[in-house]
Amino acid sequence: MRGLAAVPSYVVMQPTTLCNLDCAYCYLPFRAVDRRMPVPVAEAVAASVNSWAAAGRFSVVWHGGEPLAAGREHLAALIAPFGPEVEHHVQTNATLIDDAWCAFFTEHRVRVSVSVDGPRERNGDRITRAGGPAYDRIVRGVAALRRHRLPFSALAVVGRPEPGLATELYDYFLGLGCDVLGVNIEETEGVNLRDNSHDARAVTAFWAELVAAWRREPRIHLREVEWSLRYAAAVLDGTADDVLPRRLDPIPTVGHDGSVTVLSPELAGFTDVRYGDFSSGNVLTTPLADILAHAGRTPWVGEFLAGVEACRSSCPYFGFCGGGHAANRYFELGRFDGTETAHCRNSKIHLLEGVLEHARDHQSPAA
Ligand code: SF4
Repeated sequence: MRGLAAVPSYVVMQPTTLCNLDCAYCYLPFRAVDRRMPVPVAEAVAASVNSWAAAGRFSVVWHGGEPLAAGREHLAALIAPFGPEVEHHVQTNATLIDDAWCAFFTEHRVRVSVSVDGPRERNGDRITRAGGPAYDRIVRGVAALRRHRLPFSALAVVGRPEPGLATELYDYFLGLGCDVLGVNIEETEGVNLRDNSHDARAVTAFWAELVAAWRREPRIHLREVEWSLRYAAAVLDGTADDVLPRRLDPIPTVGHDGSVTVLSPELAGFTDVRYGDFSSGNVLTTPLADILAHAGRTPWVGEFLAGVEACRSSCPYFGFCGGGHAANRYFELGRFDGTETAHCRNSKIHLLEGVLEHARDHQSPAA
């Protein structure tokens, strides 16, 4: 894997910077302000996306802020320029979901992913603007999705990996009714400055326990675990070099104002004396396809690609990880050409170690 691909597999869109919640670990700098994406930004993005979608599967992920805080009418106007082949997703805190939103998701064929951290007592960081718990509102939204038989994914943030937590979480999400689950160990990035370093044993044990819980009842697609198992199988087959794509997916995030930030949505909205505003261009003045064709020339992107090469030559986990996440390097190390971060230890190195630990503990005596 070398350099950036010219065509992404999905685009992240920010219909508004506003979020109606104020979660303690949120990385977004402008979540108290409602800066909405004008329709011409969506039209400009659609001009590139529609041709990509005609050539193969392509998704637009409406992310925020809280995307539903943009309102149904405005979100419909932003979706309208995209052709029927484009798959739409929203990443939402679910607190605004009601029957009318469910009808909207059905009409516009929008796939929903809900951010929720497990049972009520695990959601202490998910709070309203008034400082109260958001949990009851989240589960009300999920209940609406279930009433309307809309399939949904879930995304959980884990603040402190501890024994028993992985089993508790997996059982909770089985009951919640999601069909896909992503689990993130909390990250130090954006305006979230909380420390994310954890004891290596605790994190490895967390992932190993999650694999065990999943294997008992593998009814949910468990994003991180299934990816790790695919990689482990490829190592055994001798095809591990083919697991990563040949080029990095640029994953463009289009901000509310049309600015395009590649590789890490978490960098959008920040500025730095060395790197400027991190954007690679604006769709209101340059077609998205052209911005991506030249994104490798953005100064910080070049530095990040040097960091990926440093990972390739120094890290035994490179074939699994592919060189990590740009925002984590920047927010943890202050630059893009470093290598190991607490994030990559939590979410790559100890994840793979956990999967292997589970495999070692459960191999048959004859093996
Ligand atoms: S695990 Fe960390 S050090 Fe290793 S390749 Fe990934 S980002 Fe680089």
